[in-house]
Amino acid sequence: MGATINAFLRKQLVTRRDRLESAAHHRGHSAHVHVLLKEVDRALAGMEDGSFGICEICHEAVETERLICDPLTRICLDHFTTQEKTALERDLELAAEVQKALLPQHPFQHQGWDVCYHYEPAGLVSGDYCDIIEAGDGSFYFVVGDVSGKGLAASMLMTHMHAMFRTLMSVKLPLTDILKHASRVFSESTLPNQYATLVCGRAMPDGTLEICNAGHPPPMIVRDGVVEELDSADLPIGLFVAEEFSVSNLRLLPGEGLVMYSDGVSEANNTSGTEYTSHRLSNVIRSSNGVDASALVAACRDDLTAFRGQARKTDDATLFVLRRQRA
Ligand SMILES: [Zn+2]
Repeated sequence: MGATINAFLRKQLVTRRDRLESAAHHRGHSAHVHVLLKEVDRALAGMEDGSFGICEICHEAVETERLICDPLTRICLDHFTTQEKTALERDLELAAEVQKALLPQHPFQHQGWDVCYHYEPAGLVSGDYCDIIEAGDGSFYFVVGDVSGKGLAASMLMTHMHAMFRTLMSVKLPLTDILKHASRVFSESTLPNQYATLVCGRAMPDGTLEICNAGHPPPMIVRDGVVEELDSADLPIGLFVAEEFSVSNLRLLPGEGLVMYSDGVSEANNTSGTEYTSHRLSNVIRSSNGVDASALVAACRDDLTAFRGQARKTDDATLFVLRRQRA
C-alpha cells in the first residue's frame, strides 16, 4: 500500500478516534463505543508495527479498496463465508441501485436540444459520472466525468461528485468558477492520488454552448458529416487545491451535435488486445450522419459492443450525445 494511502487512512482513523471519544464523553461509555475505540486503537498500533492492512489469517495484504471503505477490516476476502460473501454482494447490488437512481432521465429534450447517453459500468458500480441539470432560465448544464480508479471506491467518489455539482450548479456560478470550487472540494476531501477528468458545459436555447474540459478526452463536434475534436489543455479536477480552468464558446446549428465519452470507450480492448480508439469512434459518428441523438448513441454503443466481442470489460464506459433539433 502506498505511503499516501497510509497517511490518508491514519488521518481517517484519528478523526474516528476523536469522534468516538467525544461520543463516549457525551453519552457515557456505552459498550459499543468502547469496542469501536479499541478497534481503532488496534488499527493505529498496527500502523506503527507494520501489521496494518495485513490479513490476520493468511498474512497476505488486505484489498486496498476495502481498507479505504473500512479501515478496521482485518481479514481479506478469501476467508469470507458464503453467507458473508452473499451479504457483501447484496451491499454492492444496493450501491449499484443507488447509483442508477442518480442518473439523469433520458432521452432529455429541452429548448430545441436532444440529449441521450449510454452508461455502462465495467462491474456492478461505475466511477463514471454523467448528469443533466436544468438551470431554470431555459439553459441546462451537462457533465460527463470519470473518477480515477474503478469499483466501489470510485463509485463512492462518483456519488460525491454528483452531490457537489448539483449544489454548485444551483448557485448559478460561471462554469469556470464551478470547476474551481469543485476541484478544491474534491482535492480536499479525497485521497491525494485521486482525481477526476470531466467535461462540463451549459447549453443555451439559441444553440450556443459553453464548455470546460478538465483533462477529459476531447468532445467531438459533429457538423454535417464532419467530425472535429474540441481541444483543451486544462488539468483534471482534484490534482491541486488551486486550479484554473478555461471556457470554450461555440454555437451549434440545427442538426449539429456534440459527442462526449469516457476513456473506457476509446481504450476498450477486443480479445486480441487491440484498442478501440477515438478514431474508430469518430468514423462511426461520421457514417451515422443525420441521425438523431438516441440513434447516434445506439450506433456508437453497438459498434463498441461488436468490437469488444467476448473481451472482458476493464473500465467503465460512457457515451453522451447532445444535439440541436432540426427546425
Ligand atoms: Zn487472508
